[in-house]
Amino acid sequence: MPAMEVRLDERTLPEGGFVDLPTLRAVRLPRERSELVIGEGGAPLGGGTWLFSEPQDHLTEFVDLTALGWEPWAEEPDGSLTVAATCTLAQLLRIPARPEWPALSLFPRCADSLVASFKVWNTATIGGNIALALPAGGLTSLATALDAEALLWTADGERRMAVADLVLGVRRTALEPGEVIRSITFPAAALAARIAFRRIALSPQGRAGTVVIGRRDGNGAVTIGITGGTERPEILRFPAPPSTADVATAIDGIGTWYDDPHGAPDWREAMTRRFAEEIREELR
Ligand SMILES: Cc1cc2nc3c(=O)[nH]c(=O)nc-3n(C[C@H](O)[C@H](O)[C@H](O)COP(=O)(O)OP(=O)(O)OC[C@H]3O[C@@H](n4cnc5c(N)ncnc54)[C@H](O)[C@@H]3O)c2cc1C
Repeated sequence: MPAMEVRLDERTLPEGGFVDLPTLRAVRLPRERSELVIGEGGAPLGGGTWLFSEPQDHLTEFVDLTALGWEPWAEEPDGSLTVAATCTLAQLLRIPARPEWPALSLFPRCADSLVASFKVWNTATIGGNIALALPAGGLTSLATALDAEALLWTADGERRMAVADLVLGVRRTALEPGEVIRSITFPAAALAARIAFRRIALSPQGRAGTVVIGRRDGNGAVTIGITGGTERPEILRFPAPPSTADVATAIDGIGTWYDDPHGAPDWREAMTRRFAEEIREELR
């Protein structure tokens, strides 16, 4: 079936115009990969919870990725877990627990760390959250702490990249024009790891000030992922359980403490240091 285009013309526009997105002329529904062409003025549409929440005056067309009907998630033969970019937060949390994936317990904690209503919960996608590249992106926290890899697609090409390298800064990613996130793969070894999680916000329902996630792999290696408190994911790696000084020195090297109304950089750094030390102790 060819791609369907929903044109927002005089007949489909609500009376008085399409108030929130006045420049939008069409929403295209691709049926297969070859139709995944995103031209000038176009943007991939995931759940739309952000795209429909702000002015998008530079955009004229949305390409609705949900029309491609990707399976939300699948276990791979090597025991890793692939989650489609269009998997919603709600679908992500329905992945059944299993003994060989103890780190699955991190999924609800990261999803919970988004400040989201039930409407966002049921609609927002993992791909949209990562592509949006907000420091408080809870799915970015999840994917980077577990060394997940993104599969990036164009209509006729693909490449893979660690999610930690994909998110470059506040609202900045390494996605090339026309490229979309197809899926995220969580490696079996990371899913089998021991996990420790800390998050803080300035108010009980507030946006994350910092999110610190520790992971101890079967071979003793420890990884500490920092998001929310920094402009981009910061991943600290230790081949063996680190000492207090090892962790402190690694944090000294971070120069991307984030500053916005949800927290001052020095507070974010202080909280991160405290949580990283707690996590170090917990995973010892
Ligand atoms: C009340 C409320 C609270 C929120 N709280 C948070 C929060 O705490 N933390 C946070 O990070 N965000 C938050 N958001 C913003 C947003 O809702 C989430 O980031 C959400 O996960 C975005 O997912 P989506 O599928 O709705 O993305 P969309 O709105 O569809 O798209 C977001 C961006 O990603 C692009 N995009 C979407 N899918 C892909 C893809 N597969 N490949 C490439 N690009 C893609 C779009 O073109 C767009 O630029 C909040 C929004 C609301 C309304």
